[in-house]
Amino acid sequence: MHTEYVYDLADGDATMRNLLGGKGAGVAEMARLGVPVPDAFTVTTTACVETMNRGGEWPENLWPEVEQALQRLEERTGLGLGDPEKPLLLAIRSGAVQSMPGMMDTVLNLGVSDDTVAGLAAGGDERFAWDSYRRFIQMYGEVVEGIEPHVYEDALTKIKADKNAKEDTDLTTEDLKELVATFKKLSNEALGGEWTSDPKQQLKRAINAVFDSWQNPRAEVYRKANNIPADLGTAVNVMQMVFGNRGETSATGVLFTRNPSTGVKELYGEFLVNAQGEDVVAGIRTPRNLEEMEQVLPEAYAQLIDTMNAMERHYKDMQDMEFTIENEKLYLLQTRNGKRTAAAALKVANDMVEEGIITKEEALQRIEPAQLDQLLHPAIDPAHGQSPIAKGLPASPGAAVGKLCFDADTAAVRGDEEPVVLVRFETTPDDIAGVIKAQGVLTAHGGMTSHAAVVARGMGKPCVAGAHEIRINPAEKTVTIGDKTYGEDDVLTLDGSTGEVYAGSLPLVPPQINDDFQHIVQWADEVRRLGVRANADNKVDAEKARELGAQGIGLCRTEHMFMAEDRLPAVREMILAETDEQRAAALEKILPMQQQDFEGIFEAMAGLPVTVRLLDPPLHEFLPDLVEQSLKVQRLELTGANADEIEAEKHILEQVKGLHEQNPMLGTRGCRLGMLYPAIPEMQTRAIIRAALAVRERQGETVDVEIMIPLVAYAEELKRQRAIVVATADEEIADSGQDLDYTVGTMIELPRAAVTANQIAEHADFFSFGTNDLTQTGIGISRDDAEGGFLGQYVIDEVMPRNPFESVDRDGVGELVRMGVEKGRSVKDKLKTGVCGEHGGDPESIELFHEIGLDYVSCSPFRVPIARFAAAQAVLKNK
Ligand code: ADP
Ligand code: MG
Ligand code: MG
Repeated sequence: MHTEYVYDLADGDATMRNLLGGKGAGVAEMARLGVPVPDAFTVTTTACVETMNRGGEWPENLWPEVEQALQRLEERTGLGLGDPEKPLLLAIRSGAVQSMPGMMDTVLNLGVSDDTVAGLAAGGDERFAWDSYRRFIQMYGEVVEGIEPHVYEDALTKIKADKNAKEDTDLTTEDLKELVATFKKLSNEALGGEWTSDPKQQLKRAINAVFDSWQNPRAEVYRKANNIPADLGTAVNVMQMVFGNRGETSATGVLFTRNPSTGVKELYGEFLVNAQGEDVVAGIRTPRNLEEMEQVLPEAYAQLIDTMNAMERHYKDMQDMEFTIENEKLYLLQTRNGKRTAAAALKVANDMVEEGIITKEEALQRIEPAQLDQLLHPAIDPAHGQSPIAKGLPASPGAAVGKLCFDADTAAVRGDEEPVVLVRFETTPDDIAGVIKAQGVLTAHGGMTSHAAVVARGMGKPCVAGAHEIRINPAEKTVTIGDKTYGEDDVLTLDGSTGEVYAGSLPLVPPQINDDFQHIVQWADEVRRLGVRANADNKVDAEKARELGAQGIGLCRTEHMFMAEDRLPAVREMILAETDEQRAAALEKILPMQQQDFEGIFEAMAGLPVTVRLLDPPLHEFLPDLVEQSLKVQRLELTGANADEIEAEKHILEQVKGLHEQNPMLGTRGCRLGMLYPAIPEMQTRAIIRAALAVRERQGETVDVEIMIPLVAYAEELKRQRAIVVATADEEIADSGQDLDYTVGTMIELPRAAVTANQIAEHADFFSFGTNDLTQTGIGISRDDAEGGFLGQYVIDEVMPRNPFESVDRDGVGELVRMGVEKGRSVKDKLKTGVCGEHGGDPESIELFHEIGLDYVSCSPFRVPIARFAAAQAVLKNK
């Protein structure tokens, strides 16, 4: 039977989590299935929420309903709360909707008092009764009255010392009576008044204390960390006590149905004879391995194993269970899906598919994308047992160990000889060489999408960003953490998956792309609709991407090829050329280099599509810095250098000034470059086509060439750029005397492009949404400025749900993508569409891209398996 706020055990089942909490629904389900659980009733989460909403005052009907439910429980058990002869003892247990192990409070043994202790001892078990009494005072005092735990702990330690008792169980009945007297005295002193001894009052206050524990600081921290809403409230389970402390034939324990660290199907649990629940976790006595229970309590053991297997099959997942044995009779107190490591999650999911317990689709829904991510990188051996010395943001997963370097140039050199960790206030694009050679990066500043974080993630390199408590002194080449200072010969270990930093060198375990991992991702491939490509600019990355399952390249940036040191002079010549002839001559030098790069990439991707983006960044990125060039001229003048040399440098300075822009992100870049200097797209097209032909010649197979024009806002831009590309490509193909198919498309990365996508589509064979720039221009924020500035605060204050550069802004930028796709397809119904921003590797964004109906996402090679997996989850979620 149930009333508005209170449900008897028999009225619940597993589907009622929201109302009865996970624990309440779980015990009710077990009871329904015939598993022995102590009788109980549950006060609903609604009662807790309403109490919170009323500032702590209970809804009017709540207490009368509890009293009625108590009466029913008394009738069913034949016992009475406060009854001197047949006392009912109760456990008052918290129970959130989503499990928050150990975060909230529980009161055990409620109902024992001076009046009932004798009744409890009837049948000759005096020691047990007094043991329960002292436990009750201690727990009720701490949880309900807020008395400091040490008040009781100190008294317990003292009496054990006085009586020469090694363990709690060595205390005699007389000792326990004495302890109860001491506990009462101490409680009254601490309270400055009398201890409430009316059990009904105690029950009321205990329920209230459990309500309150929803808002205790550790529960709040846990909810934040696990994205559990703060307004759900907890249920309260009022349950008959069963006693594991009733002597040598009683026990209590916990178990997992499989090993939660490895996932291996084996018994994994602990128990204690003559004890109550908290003793196992509290570490007062060392619990014994559950296997030993077979000798001590064979019948209960056999029943426990049967029940454990039945519950696992019933819930179709690994269970974490709590049990108590009273005089050889087994009771289950709790079952829930067990928390596990990433490796265990994969193993359990695989094994359960093999055992026929779950389907492949269910297995896919079980696993978190973040868990796959963890396994793709080396990790710190979980058995390390060290405490971190600092904590920053988990910016790029994986673990790194190395000696410290405080500037990128040093890291670039030392990194060849020994493992180094780059420690910087924050990184800049100039640091890239050092980042490449370092094992990992630690920064004091910046967020999850700071430069260091983005670059590190792109390379699959561990990074801890924004560790504010570290103080770097680059001049001294030291970093101070806490009261210790570390220099270039000291070693730190970074955990980019947690943001933790450790002193010294911790043992690592290699990435675990094992069979379990492969199976999961292959199952994902059977389910997903979205294609998954990679962003790769060189052969090594392309090979890696293919190995990780990429179905092509969605974005090959060509500017990195321009930046290489040996090419920069030719690139500068091209930019600073004053006549078409000069420019053509410079491009002639660059062409074979570009072609060579493309050949490498095409070899790695033969048989698959590769989208090459024509030159995108503002030209001055390839030129000397304005300030540096001015200083150089000044220096030459001061040192009285030769006049010609000064003139030459001055000339460069003038050109740099001429190209300088206030806001390069919105300046002469993207297709605007190609519009001003048609020779650039022409040269790039030649290099691409020649490379594709050369690779086919060599390998018998080449790639599907897709040439992409960046930053188009007007259809007219694409029309003209396309004309150049097509004319050049066709000429090259004709000259070769062979055939080659290629397509020409554009990036949609400006709001105007999304809005006029129907016009643009007339000239495009494909669209690739550049969601990084679309986020910048769609929201009107510059990434570099925002991330060092207001964006972090916005996210903390929940003005924005998440950083829109990490996870696509669904309502704004996401709608622009949707509009672009719809308008584009209104003109060409087969128009191929993809995404190539950072969002292509973000599971939440992938879900949206799936919904919108894009053909593929493209992400950094290391995220390819996660994207494959997330794309499958998107299908299953939308089913
Ligand atoms: P948590 O959510 O922190 O695990 P529980 O409500 O499960 O809290 O209670 C903690 C421990 O108290 C349990 O592990 C169990 O050993 C003990 N316990 C809970 N209910 C009872 C009961 N009815 N009888 C005996 N012991 C109990
Ligand atoms: Mg529990
Ligand atoms: Mg762009």
